Amino acid sequence: MYIVQIASECAPVIKAGGLGDVVYGLSRNLDERGHCVELILPKYSNMRYDHIWGLHDAYVDLQVPWYGGVISCTVHCGWVHGRLCFFIEPHSSDMFFDRGMYYGCGDDPMRFAFFSKAALEFLLRSNKRPDVIHCHDWQTGLIPVMLFEMYKYHGMEYQRVLYTIHNFKHQGHAGAEILHATGLNREPYYFDDSRLKDNFNPFAINFMKGGIVYSNHVTTVSPHHAWEAHHGTCGFGLGHTLHVNQHKFSGILNGIDYAMWNPAKDDHIEYPYTLSTFEDKALNKKALRERLLLRAGDKPLVAFIGRLDGQKGVHLVHHAIYHTLNRGAQFVLLGSATEQGINDWFRHEKQHLNDNPDVHLEIGFSEELAHAIYAGADLMVVPSNFEPCGLTQIISMKYGTVPVVRGVGGLLNTVFDWDYDTTHSPEMRTGFVFYETDNYAVESALNRAFDLYYDEPKLFQQLAQQGMQYDYSWQKSGDQYVTLYDKIRHKC
Ligand code: ADP
Repeated sequence: MYIVQIASECAPVIKAGGLGDVVYGLSRNLDERGHCVELILPKYSNMRYDHIWGLHDAYVDLQVPWYGGVISCTVHCGWVHGRLCFFIEPHSSDMFFDRGMYYGCGDDPMRFAFFSKAALEFLLRSNKRPDVIHCHDWQTGLIPVMLFEMYKYHGMEYQRVLYTIHNFKHQGHAGAEILHATGLNREPYYFDDSRLKDNFNPFAINFMKGGIVYSNHVTTVSPHHAWEAHHGTCGFGLGHTLHVNQHKFSGILNGIDYAMWNPAKDDHIEYPYTLSTFEDKALNKKALRERLLLRAGDKPLVAFIGRLDGQKGVHLVHHAIYHTLNRGAQFVLLGSATEQGINDWFRHEKQHLNDNPDVHLEIGFSEELAHAIYAGADLMVVPSNFEPCGLTQIISMKYGTVPVVRGVGGLLNTVFDWDYDTTHSPEMRTGFVFYETDNYAVESALNRAFDLYYDEPKLFQQLAQQGMQYDYSWQKSGDQYVTLYDKIRHKC
């Protein structure tokens, strides 16, 4: 099959979170199965150019219709750790991808509507006719809309779209100007409940709703989150749209790329280890402590890695830091915030805790430090308010770091409570799960973890090793995606 992934991220060249990991990992898995996979990405000025090999021009002067005129683009081509990627660079005074950041600009809907339009125009003009176009998140929600309303009539009538939603919270809202910019026009047609009109704001179109309505199939990134989005509040207002489209909506659990995340051969960690050399994990703990100037001693090291964002339960992360210190254990945090208030809050905490030899708060993004933390920590706390899939707990398990998670979304599909799980036998359990969103909930789960660590060290190690034995590679999830691609490409 010929599959083109269109996304706003691909690790490690463009990574703000799990989306980048998934786009890269899935593409690699599909490649290994013998499918032809190409990726189309924006050419951000701040992406990691050191992860691109052989960057060269693939299409010069691609004329992308925009409002009544055109914006000329150069499409560059290069390999990102073996994946063939096309990077779209518009030449216009809007400087769409030259902002020093991937997201967070006031005109994000316009930036990614342009990217979507340019990606389709590139496929059309370069005579690329993939069997399946796989789009991701709100940034590419307009692709199926434009494909089936416009490009289908220009020679792309056989292409099919799979749309994967990694986060329902960010949906992409804009006014009618987007319709005029992209050439969709026909305001009354698109401002209709059955098409793009937002379910709550009658003056806005909703990119993600468009993606759901127009795609041939829609997935989200875990089976439990598919249920939550459809039946609970996790659809952030799109529950009804999912209900109407339930015949083509499902959840596929994310995998992780074990070539990137594997303690046995990880260039970023000092002492590689496997299940049978698990004792070497302690050397990584020692190295991490030395690197972060934490004191030595027989105490558990708890970590948090992630975006500092309301979604991630930052108030519980904050409480977990102080509870961990109260229990005489250690805490390492690696996170970055896009919200000024949260950023200031954690910078303030960092200032306050600066001289404490049992805690280190690293405010920022560092792929390399993340690997060292996964390898060096004993516990990983993931107290999310909602979590479509969550990769940090899956990566942690691979590194023998026991997850302590809130029982939502994909966390429920991947972490099985040591004391209370009813569906897995004790030797299949992998961590600690709590459900409420108050401080006591995270405290009690951490207490159970600390007690096991101190009172039953052998059992604690067994629990860590049980997590290492799970296979969350892309193999199984890749099978499910291929089955779906196959299903939609045979549909008229
Ligand atoms: P998200 O909601 O951000 O997509 P996931 O758990 O699905 O959360 O994926 C998070 C990914 O981003 C993981 O690979 C994690 O290691 C990485 N990550 C998150 N924050 C940071 C950071 N500050 N520095 C390095 N890596 C990070």
